[in-house]
Amino acid sequence: MPDLSADELRRYARHLAIPEFGIAGQRRLKAARVLCIGAGGLGSPIAMYLAAAGVGCLGLVDPDVVEITNLQRQILFGEKDLGKKKLDAARDRLLDINPHLNVQVYAERFSAHNAMRIAADYDVIIDGTDNFPTRYLSNDVAVWLKKPNVYGSILRFDGQVGVFAPHLGAPCYRCMCPQPPPPGLVPSCAEGGVLGVLPGLIGTMQALEAIKLITGIGQPLLGRLLHLDTLSMRFRTLNLRRDPDCPVCGDSPTITQPIDYEGFCGISHTPAAAPDVPAMTVHELKQLRDAGDDHFLLDVREPHEQAICRIAGATLIPLGDLENRVAELPKGKRILVHCKSGGRSARAVTKLRELGFNDAWNISGGIIAWAREIDPTMAEY
Ligand SMILES: [Zn+2]
Repeated sequence: MPDLSADELRRYARHLAIPEFGIAGQRRLKAARVLCIGAGGLGSPIAMYLAAAGVGCLGLVDPDVVEITNLQRQILFGEKDLGKKKLDAARDRLLDINPHLNVQVYAERFSAHNAMRIAADYDVIIDGTDNFPTRYLSNDVAVWLKKPNVYGSILRFDGQVGVFAPHLGAPCYRCMCPQPPPPGLVPSCAEGGVLGVLPGLIGTMQALEAIKLITGIGQPLLGRLLHLDTLSMRFRTLNLRRDPDCPVCGDSPTITQPIDYEGFCGISHTPAAAPDVPAMTVHELKQLRDAGDDHFLLDVREPHEQAICRIAGATLIPLGDLENRVAELPKGKRILVHCKSGGRSARAVTKLRELGFNDAWNISGGIIAWAREIDPTMAEY
């Protein structure tokens, strides 16, 4: 175990005062290497608290740049970071919190191609991305590398935390959820929204679980899933069991190396360009509108999205209501469908064509493309 310098002894005085933690716990933290996947809403408190607490090496994986919509919850970043690579801004902030930290940054998407190589160097893996492909990927990689995987997820007002570690006798994520939900059933935070404080709560608990795993104090959430409902402020703990038929950690595993996680989760990299969905660009839509074309413009977003921005003349029917409200659509007329960025509207066009609306078209890139390329005065979200 590494020794602590005079500065470190002063810096961590409040840790050293805890009898169960003490110098031994602090030296374990200093020796530890933790990988945090994602430097967003969950990654912010995870990285900042682990840096402050004295983790020796922190790896961060994130390909994104800082956008204005991040600042509502991603407390690693501020106004001065807008447009910067997240990991450049994160490194500066974390070293300002604790110059003893060794920060390793990977400005790339955590993928089947790099996951094993990146994760192999770390003792604990924390999934701070909250999307299904990365959740399954980080789970599988952690199982194969025999490292604990600290899981967190958030949506609107609810969150979950758990620790998956078959090598410690606990289940993995696939024991609980062998298959992802159908695409579109569980909205992403971008679609469904998230209260800004919630990733702070869940990410902080993930950081705490990592510290417990590293220092050996307390009982980590092994074999238990913590559910938090912030509106009623109720915490529930569900017990989880290992599934002997689990495809990754079971007795006869069928998945033994990284797979196509986007495909497994039904997610295409370019949903707006789904090959069998007839589509047109926002420029083509503009030309039709300018020419006085007689079409029906359908917006399949949610009402709260339409309250932010709308294309004049569009009729709102949220994707989930479409089948029940199909009688409101004109038969025999061209129907042009848009959503925020083209994914939901592509599914709507597929459904409409199945229902006999043979002149239904998807607007590629959705209202965000319209705002960027046709009407720059329109609000984006
Ligand atoms: Zn499993």
